[in-house]
Amino acid sequence: MFDLYEEMILDHNRNPRNFLGSGQFDTNRLKGMNRKAVGYNPLCGDDVILYLTVKKDKIIDIVFEGVGCAISIASASLMTEAIKGKTIEEASSLFDNMHEMLTEGTDKDLGKLSVLEGVSNYPARVKCATLSWHTLKSALNNDTETITTE
Ligand code: ZN
Repeated sequence: MFDLYEEMILDHNRNPRNFLGSGQFDTNRLKGMNRKAVGYNPLCGDDVILYLTVKKDKIIDIVFEGVGCAISIASASLMTEAIKGKTIEEASSLFDNMHEMLTEGTDKDLGKLSVLEGVSNYPARVKCATLSWHTLKSALNNDTETITTE
């Protein structure tokens, strides 16, 4: 992985954005959240819980909590940044693009999310990076069961 990418991943792991576990998190933000999904990656032991405010077809707000490896936390952090304010349709097409990038590689420019592209070279870590995205999909489908990457 390129150093710059590694640096950004480490930064998102150390200071995850939209993260419920951080000291500065304002819990008032959780009021009115109407979707939740839990994800688990047994291969690595990564856990993620997403909370969303969805109105009509728009993702107004999204926060997460979780415990996991640097890739899983950084990926969840980057995902929340990318998804906030998007429509469900836009989020779903981003899911497809991310999935493609992480499993096969892609020519598409996914902006900041591209920092995770190197993960596709490490098959054992792909599920760490896709966990938050699978969990997002489940939250948008209003499926409240625990999602596992297996
Ligand atoms: Zn992991």
